Amino acid sequence: MVATVIDGKAVAASVRERVRADVEQLSAELGRPPGLATVLVGDDPASAIYVRRKREACEEVGIRSFHHEPGGSISQEELLELVVELNEADEVDGILVQLPLPEQIDSDVIVAALDPGKDVDGLTPTSAGLLARGEPGLVPCTPRGIMELLSSAGIDPAGREAVIVGRSNLVGRPLFSLLLGANATVTVCHSRTRDLPEVCRRGEILIAAAGSPRLVGAEMIRPGATVIDVGTNRTDDGLVGDVDFDAAVEVAGAITPVPGGVGPMTIAMLLSNTVDAARLRHKIAATSGRPT
Ligand code: NAD
Repeated sequence: MVATVIDGKAVAASVRERVRADVEQLSAELGRPPGLATVLVGDDPASAIYVRRKREACEEVGIRSFHHEPGGSISQEELLELVVELNEADEVDGILVQLPLPEQIDSDVIVAALDPGKDVDGLTPTSAGLLARGEPGLVPCTPRGIMELLSSAGIDPAGREAVIVGRSNLVGRPLFSLLLGANATVTVCHSRTRDLPEVCRRGEILIAAAGSPRLVGAEMIRPGATVIDVGTNRTDDGLVGDVDFDAAVEVAGAITPVPGGVGPMTIAMLLSNTVDAARLRHKIAATSGRPT
């Protein structure tokens, strides 16, 4: 059996189209386009590329982007002042502070200062708490994108065994809550898990988010499972995922490639979250898509 390859680029394109239509309608209702503020601190080249892509994606769908690029030597107090200013700015519906931040700044403090209503990365303790309780709020982009990929592949998690490798606040933990909310039976593995292959083989849905190149081999995959590879590892062979794709494709039922799987969904869901944040702030009901 050879797995179906889930096309993240195509699914992301359809999400962007949906967001474009939502933005048009929302702009008419608000009398202005929804706005996303991006904050880039320091000169990390990868962060600069990510932020540029996010801003370009905003423009494509009609979201207005407000960019702030304080120098890398900014103090924590000064950055907090900027966050407060953006929290209060009426035309700003979402705020994205690109991580990591320089070492003089405690990123937990900055993230916690964000207005949860504008927290389009879904990383504030309030957003995390709402998600853990199964209540509506803003959800981190990558996990939300993974749920959208599963849905696009026709996989309903309800009643299924789902196994996640990784327990970060960015991916593993929010994904646990989302899959649980979708009625899967969820197991979360991490660096201290005993017999990782045995646990992974239980998964009808297996999600690899460990940041370890080709960690998941064919012997760790239940035949016919849906395998979602979140890993983006830069190696001498180029960009590789956490799954050994060539081996896994022979065993899995469906699988995401790297690149072209989860990656494109992350930015698409940021756009979707910005629309959701604008609606939540202005108490406008969703017509398509909704905060999950
Ligand atoms: P992280 O380093 O914060 O967390 C990794 C987790 O994996 C930890 O909980 C750790 O316990 C677990 N882990 C590591 N090695 C393991 C092993 N050998 N066995 C079992 N568990 C192990 O990473 P993160 O921020 O969650 O990101 C994970 C990966 O996903 C990275 O490669 C990252 O680049 C990628 N990522 C991609 C996107 C995207 O948009 N495509 C977004 C976010 C993260």
